Amino acid sequence: MMTNDRRKPIRWGMVGGGKGSQIGYIHRSAAHRDEVFALAAGAFDIDPERGRAFGLDLGLDEARSYRDYAAMFAAEAGRADGIEAVSIATPNNTHFAICKAALEHDLHVICEKPLCFTTAEAEELKALSEARSRIVGVTYGYAGHQMIEQARAMVRNGDLGEIRIVNLQFAHGFHSAAVEEQNPSTRWRVDPKFAGPSYVLGDVGTHPLYIAKVILPHLKIRRLLCTRQSFVKSRAPLEDNAVTLMEYDNGAIATIWSSAVNAGSMHGQKIRIVGSKASIEWWDERPNQLAYEIQGEPARILERGMDYLYPEARIDDRIGGGHPEGLFEAWANLYRRFGFAINRERGLAPAGVEELVFPDVDAGLEGVRWVENCVRSADAGGVWLDYR
Ligand code: NAD
Repeated sequence: MMTNDRRKPIRWGMVGGGKGSQIGYIHRSAAHRDEVFALAAGAFDIDPERGRAFGLDLGLDEARSYRDYAAMFAAEAGRADGIEAVSIATPNNTHFAICKAALEHDLHVICEKPLCFTTAEAEELKALSEARSRIVGVTYGYAGHQMIEQARAMVRNGDLGEIRIVNLQFAHGFHSAAVEEQNPSTRWRVDPKFAGPSYVLGDVGTHPLYIAKVILPHLKIRRLLCTRQSFVKSRAPLEDNAVTLMEYDNGAIATIWSSAVNAGSMHGQKIRIVGSKASIEWWDERPNQLAYEIQGEPARILERGMDYLYPEARIDDRIGGGHPEGLFEAWANLYRRFGFAINRERGLAPAGVEELVFPDVDAGLEGVRWVENCVRSADAGGVWLDYR
């Protein structure tokens, strides 16, 4: 496994991800897994007192557990040992302002998806990150699973032949009823003021969209048709189910089913790629396996950590095949790559890390662009539109 310099971990802060939040724990766990980042400061909560207390629980100095992110960025900028990077794990409506403020304080940023609400905002963040030579990473965490690298290498090496059909879905059943009446983490997701122009398209659909981009970097979306529904009526205008049909520029066709009302389904995130010779299929509930089906032959199941995989899929090996890895390792793989990218800017990265793919500001921008196009098509009555 390629490693970052553990003697000089990146001084790191967090905004959001406070006590009881859904996603805060995995950020801290992934950032610390390989000692790439060291938590030094935080503004963890919309409730300043709860946030300060949580920071102390995590072992921060009292002075560095802040009431809000503006105070944190200002105070940390004045310290010789101030934070160099920050992760943002707050509800969607705050990402743009916090990310912009972080970049303006010359911090590297790891931001939750969606990066922001509009393509114009995403382009502004991209320009700012380039002007300041700062990294923006976006946590499309499932992309850190090893078998995604194997799938990417298989496509690049022509194992599937010409790519024809891409079937994607992230369709869980957790919100089949109006659980937002009790659950605050769901409540903001179905309110456009906090969630933005979409619910499931942005919340779940952008995950397989990004994974498809990793596996099929050469394909570009030419046009798209989307239809979206609010099966729990109180969620309108936000959708809890959507189907998107897409045409790529090589003539391949793709579908993405995004749903929170697929009753009985746990995650239901599946990636199936059909080529002229063979197909592959990956399911995030069995992430150590990749189905490889060659036309006319018995189907094979490729296993993580085995010698027969392509070398690119072995870079992230932490333990040999047979030992199951999961989402925490996938996130740690991503955080390690964010670390490599940041360490390149710090002059501390080992040779050879340029080739590693991670969800960067362009990936964040693409997620926002795709949601915008889907909403445009759905709200025009579910019509084909040129992708823009
Ligand atoms: P949540 O509601 O469970 O937690 C949000 C946290 O942010 C809370 O601790 C809250 O107090 C804090 N917060 C809110 N506003 C704040 C502010 N202005 N300053 C500081 N802290 C603030 O939400 P969640 O489910 O953890 O989602 C947070 C983000 O993570 C969302 O953008 C969501 O889309 C994303 N998410 C991503 C994944 C993934 O797989 N990458 C999974 C779940 C959630």
